[in-house]
Amino acid sequence: MYDVAIIGAGVTGTSIARKLSRYKLRIALLEKEADVSFGTSKANSGIIHGGFHHNKKYLKARLEISGAAMFDQLQRELGFPFRRCGILVAAMHHDEMEAAAHLFRQGQENGAPGIEFCSRERMLELEPKLSQNVVGGVYAPSGGIIEPYRFVFSLLESAVKNGTTVYTEFEASHAEWAENCWNITASDGRNILARYAVNAAGLYADNISKMFGAEEYTIEARKGAYFLLDRLAEGHPQRVVFPVPSRISKGMLVIPTVEGTTLIGPTADHVDNKEDKATEGNHLALISASAKLLVPSVSEQDAITNFAGLRPALNDDFYIAFSEKVPRFLQVAGIQSPGLTAAPAIARMVKDMLLKDGLELSEDPSYDPFIRQTVPVRTLPAEKRAELVEQNPAYGNIVCRCEEISEAEIVEAIRHGHTTLDGIKFYTRAQMGRCQGGFCTGKIIRLIQRETEIPYNKITKRGGDSLILEGEL
Ligand SMILES: Cc1cc2nc3c(=O)[nH]c(=O)nc-3n(C[C@H](O)[C@H](O)[C@H](O)COP(=O)(O)OP(=O)(O)OC[C@H]3O[C@@H](n4cnc5c(N)ncnc54)[C@H](O)[C@@H]3O)c2cc1C
Repeated sequence: MYDVAIIGAGVTGTSIARKLSRYKLRIALLEKEADVSFGTSKANSGIIHGGFHHNKKYLKARLEISGAAMFDQLQRELGFPFRRCGILVAAMHHDEMEAAAHLFRQGQENGAPGIEFCSRERMLELEPKLSQNVVGGVYAPSGGIIEPYRFVFSLLESAVKNGTTVYTEFEASHAEWAENCWNITASDGRNILARYAVNAAGLYADNISKMFGAEEYTIEARKGAYFLLDRLAEGHPQRVVFPVPSRISKGMLVIPTVEGTTLIGPTADHVDNKEDKATEGNHLALISASAKLLVPSVSEQDAITNFAGLRPALNDDFYIAFSEKVPRFLQVAGIQSPGLTAAPAIARMVKDMLLKDGLELSEDPSYDPFIRQTVPVRTLPAEKRAELVEQNPAYGNIVCRCEEISEAEIVEAIRHGHTTLDGIKFYTRAQMGRCQGGFCTGKIIRLIQRETEIPYNKITKRGGDSLILEGEL
């Protein structure tokens, strides 16, 4: 019997699990995929927003501001890649300045730290790669960039260290309220009992709500496609560059990732199929044309891969509330942008709501907010690398040449339970460089086989039937 079962291990569910793991509670985190962060949380812009895009009448705007402020402490505790590089909104025509001024005033009212309304000269001083056509804009210095999957993995590691139980490949498919608790059954027949259930199932929160007999609503999937540019791309800015937004989207941006690559995108298109993450050739032309208006040195020649993520859209705001139809069922749905930024504040809000509802929260004296922090080998000076190799020669065997990821780091990922190719990619960055796994996939498969004894023809890209190799070697 658990106190709280959280359905969905994206950034929302894992943030909630970590927050609750501070108390003497039994917590279960249920995830249908083979690993955590395989939903929307793996494919987004990775921006910690600056607090000016939405009016604070929206819950999402208030949670964005308070969530963004929590990232410095979270980084100290969990050590994930994060940098407050600042955000620019660039107006390219004088008739966009009115909208830019509105964003600036909104940011001031929201309490966005240090927000500035900028002249053309100031914009070019802040970002010399901006187009000379810029006429002015907004600068939000508190905005930043993060590796979203790495953030989720760190949250998970911390939650597990403090007692959370994680069930992967647990697709919640049936729920029943009996004897004062929820009995949640997975599609493979496993079941768990919990006093409270939290619905953090992203795109599928509508199905989960229905399954629990709670409110009926529809989550709409809105696709955002991106192109990733090589580390050496000339069009790599120092700050996140937004256009002036439209009514339905923040527009297509140029984003310097925290690891030194550049993202351009996303598009915003409704799709009927919630698994449709396909990208299309004509997207590249559209995205790169939009990006070049902001940063002319962006070149489609630098694209090394493309991907798409799906926004779980529900009206215009987050839906965080106890069900009014069934007992002890908490909806955390419609968590579209800025969900990544808001996640720590969503977790705090959920904790407060559970407390108010009567869940006893007594602090666990053994709670430790810190996890072991490792420094990527590629960032170490030569003498430090040599010391590591002396202790463990596997640090000297570079498996992923593009990102310089060693055998020892891949083995660490596997020993932390990431046994699919994507899980290892998101944990270590191996396969994320220019060759996109062309040279290292085979070597990683051998390491998974050696460490886990999973036969090579059962190793998958991302769980399920995404097998890589067939037949006999
Ligand atoms: C294109 C795009 C760009 C974005 N950019 C930003 C940004 O720059 N900054 C920002 O703050 N936000 C951004 N967002 C929003 C942010 O990515 C999301 O708000 C956030 O990732 C949502 O996290 P989640 O945990 O709620 O959902 P998810 O990450 O989707 O997690 C839900 C989990 O529930 C699991 N699940 C579903 N059904 C079941 C079931 N039956 N049983 C068990 N598990 C189940 C899924 O497998 C999934 O892992 C962006 C989103 C998109 C799509």
